Amino acid sequence: MSSATVHVEAMRELILCGGVFNSPQLLMLSGIGPAAHLRGLGIAPRVDLPVGHNLRDHLMVGLRWRRLGPGPFRRLMRADRIALAMAQAWLFRTGPASTLPLGLLAFLRTRPALEAPDLEFLFRAASLDPRPWFPGVTPTYEDAITVNHPLGTCAMGRGSDAVLNPDLRVRGVEALRVVDAAALPDMPSAHISAMVMMLAERASDLIRGRPPLAPANV
Ligand SMILES: Cc1cc2nc3c(=O)[nH]c(=O)nc-3n(C[C@H](O)[C@H](O)[C@H](O)COP(=O)(O)OP(=O)(O)OC[C@H]3O[C@@H](n4cnc5c(N)ncnc54)[C@H](O)[C@@H]3O)c2cc1C
Repeated sequence: MSSATVHVEAMRELILCGGVFNSPQLLMLSGIGPAAHLRGLGIAPRVDLPVGHNLRDHLMVGLRWRRLGPGPFRRLMRADRIALAMAQAWLFRTGPASTLPLGLLAFLRTRPALEAPDLEFLFRAASLDPRPWFPGVTPTYEDAITVNHPLGTCAMGRGSDAVLNPDLRVRGVEALRVVDAAALPDMPSAHISAMVMMLAERASDLIRGRPPLAPANV
């Protein structure tokens, strides 16, 4: 990798969209973050902001049951069968390897008075960590489960605990916006990918100076 320093100047503004961990890291390396923390790392602080303080994620409790016998998905993952299934998917766009082994989702309110669901059930029929196996060559896999919805490390808002203004500009810095999941201030009652896309659409309107869309009646 080259160690040369490249100097680039932006005519209008910079858009940082490295994701919920890399965006705050780049800000902090640039001296934008909690001043005492940066000093402790040998970085000269330029703007004292609570970058990285608001990290949130959807917590998950995994409940696993061992099947009485191997399920159809695990049988399919035997190396020779999955190889055939993948060839079938590639050639004819059909067969078990042409679909995802998804389970069922259910969103629930733990109390009827709640405005939005605060609990989600994720029923999965297959492991999240499947891989081909073959008797006597590689052992089969165990089932495992996780969730990845981190956000909020450069939260937008109006208070002193906000890193970004409501127009996604880094407070106290000229012409620098963060446009990714780091900008979302709080956790929604949903998976967050659609919100990140909505945020990016909104950011493009803000950057081009377009007025916001009228609220949709959905
Ligand atoms: C395994 C997994 C499963 C998920 N499943 C779902 C789901 O089912 N539904 C849902 O709604 N959400 C899901 N999510 C969450 C969703 O994918 C993220 O919330 C969303 O992608 C966040 O978008 P982003 O633009 O903030 O960051 P990212 O999508 O992470 O994009 C950041 C980009 O910046 C690049 N980058 C970082 N640092 C640098 C650098 N220094 N230089 C250049 N490039 C850099 C990265 O390579 C990456 O391409 C899942 C996430 C994971 C990890």
